[in-house]
Amino acid sequence: MLKIIKSAEIYTPEYLGIKDVLVVDGKIGKIDEKIEITGVEVEVIDGKGKKLVPGFIDSHVHLTGGGGEGGFATRTPEITLSDIIQGGITTIVGTLGTDGITRSPENLYAKAKALEEEGINTYIYTGSYRIPPITFTGSIMKDLILIDKVIGVGEIAISDHRSSQPTIEELKRIVADARVGGMLSGKSGVVNFHVGNGKNGIEPLFEIVQNTEIPINHLYPTHINRNKDLLEQGIEFAKLGGVVDFTTSSTSKDPDELKAYNALIRYYEAGLIDKVTFTSDGQGSLPIFDEKGNFVKLGIGKVTSLYYEVKLAVLKGLPLEEALKPITVNPAKILGLKNKGKLKEGANADLVILDESLNIDTVISKGKVLMSDKIIVTKGIFEN
Ligand code: ZN
Repeated sequence: MLKIIKSAEIYTPEYLGIKDVLVVDGKIGKIDEKIEITGVEVEVIDGKGKKLVPGFIDSHVHLTGGGGEGGFATRTPEITLSDIIQGGITTIVGTLGTDGITRSPENLYAKAKALEEEGINTYIYTGSYRIPPITFTGSIMKDLILIDKVIGVGEIAISDHRSSQPTIEELKRIVADARVGGMLSGKSGVVNFHVGNGKNGIEPLFEIVQNTEIPINHLYPTHINRNKDLLEQGIEFAKLGGVVDFTTSSTSKDPDELKAYNALIRYYEAGLIDKVTFTSDGQGSLPIFDEKGNFVKLGIGKVTSLYYEVKLAVLKGLPLEEALKPITVNPAKILGLKNKGKLKEGANADLVILDESLNIDTVISKGKVLMSDKIIVTKGIFEN
């Protein structure tokens, strides 16, 4: 069935003004001043007073749960479809984490397939924190080439006490395999690096850039807003053309300036907003501290933090068309997702409607409405 979203303010993420958008067969058929269709059934969504933006992309989520770092009882649960929809997320990339023993790539694949069937666009990374990476086939290249959902490798841990203390040569080999595997399969072949609090930060990535011919866009470090030094290193990396990722779910006692929205404003002022993505690290475990900074317990990261930090950036004065980039067009580019992250004719109809207060009003994925007026639809079950 055809769908028209009428008279919404369009953000591609660039601002286009008030227009109508026609959705045909899961794609954006037309964007125009006024679209009138007669003779066939059309579903009309009134967008008056609202903003229409691309569906959000979250490229680092522990879909099958993560954690376990405080023992088995601290393992976190699988994500639910309603969490994803509430976050306005229409494209999600699943990853394992610290635990590549009790969490398997096969389970991650099955979860990604399930969410795809339920209406979300999904991909996964092969590997986990450690080296040699755990894979489906024994080879990063084979995984990329033969397994549809695999678009990259990760999260490989560096500069972290939980990493496998990889050597620079081991890291180079992983990135090299990801590059060629990506080339042969027409995928991005990115390597998502979990960067810990270690003093070297992303130094190994600079070494790879300087000492190999591999393009910088295969290196995709996350948690760059973890500490001040890393944030500054990230600016150097971005100036070289690299893309860095800020984590939005945080219960850190660190100063506010390390929150994703503040870090984004810092990069915006440095002219580097096109080099930043946000991810939620959803379903990962998060330490919770008391007022004195003492560890209390482990919590769970929420994917709803992704857009929340974008909204905070806008409330702090960043234009919406800029603040949207880290969850739309920027991740689409680094992940090589050609028809996503942008509102244009021919692109996938993955859309979010925001109300006057910038709250998520409606989520449309692959042309289908998944949430309307705060009512969440999950496999036929309605929840408030
Ligand atoms: Zn991580």
